[in-house]
Amino acid sequence: MCKYVVVDKNMELIDGKKISQLLKDELKLEIKNKNLHPGLAVVLVGDDSASQIYVKHKKKACEYVGIKSFSHILSKDVSEENLLELIEELNKDEKVHGILVQLPMPTHIDEKKILLSVDPEKDVDGFHPLNVGNLMSGKNTFVSCTPAGIIELLDRYKIDLAGKHAVVVGRSNIVGKPVSILLLQRNATVTICHSWTKDLASITRQADILVAAVGKANIISKDMLKPGSVVIDVGMNRLANGKLVGDVDYLNAKEIVRAITPVPGGVGPMTIAMLMKNCVKAAKNLS
Ligand code: NDP
Repeated sequence: MCKYVVVDKNMELIDGKKISQLLKDELKLEIKNKNLHPGLAVVLVGDDSASQIYVKHKKKACEYVGIKSFSHILSKDVSEENLLELIEELNKDEKVHGILVQLPMPTHIDEKKILLSVDPEKDVDGFHPLNVGNLMSGKNTFVSCTPAGIIELLDRYKIDLAGKHAVVVGRSNIVGKPVSILLLQRNATVTICHSWTKDLASITRQADILVAAVGKANIISKDMLKPGSVVIDVGMNRLANGKLVGDVDYLNAKEIVRAITPVPGGVGPMTIAMLMKNCVKAAKNLS
């Protein structure tokens, strides 16, 4: 018997790989045309392998768009005092427009103290409390890269948010909360769900726009989605067989949704592209 897969021809793949490339090409051109000389300092403490891979990708993206990158790889035993001194130097360095401190930090270092020490004007990760506060009060600011990348994707695919019901599953400071605020700024009606939410499915089924940022493979199944909705899958989960999957059961979900991001190739590539965008913004602000 012939096996075949039913694919809804109206379903749109929200292609983060394509959009991030487009964005990087636009930034490359802007840097050239405006004769900008952006610089990004990346501070990595310790030898966490995932962090090393992220830093490598960020460096590669910098080279591509024309941002000078300065890597500061410090031993896992570095003292908090020495780290604060380095950040102070980077705050003053005119060649450095963006400072990124790769998290997580070793336990003897107070992450909050470190993030607070970064000059808010160079805070391209949008983690400084001043920038978080600016985001809350609707001011133009540095927004953390993953939430900003989600909105960029929705904009590029011309997905109208005004009056829509957006459901965000996850309330972390780096994804769930900021993306909820950004959706609210676009006049969506936003519901935020978390591990204490009762009957999650009854809420996700109401979502015109669903953002899943949990970190649990397939926690969002097809029957938890509203047909015709737009699904943004932020989750990155490594299965036992090494495969990277999102929070949404993609293969089944794509039969009923209007548009969906794949994992990999959806939100992930946008995060780095938005970091480049924030760095160019910082260079323009500071020059
Ligand atoms: P966190 O672990 O910080 O937050 C997870 C959130 O999910 C929490 O708010 C938690 O609720 C909620 N949650 C946990 N279980 C449930 C449940 N059963 N039902 C509903 N909500 C639940 O994760 P992050 O926000 O940092 O990351 C989320 C995912 O996104 C991860 O897979 C991460 O790898 C990925 N990610 C991807 C990025 C990218 O560039 N693509 C960037 C950043 C993250 P509670 O608050 O109650 O504990």
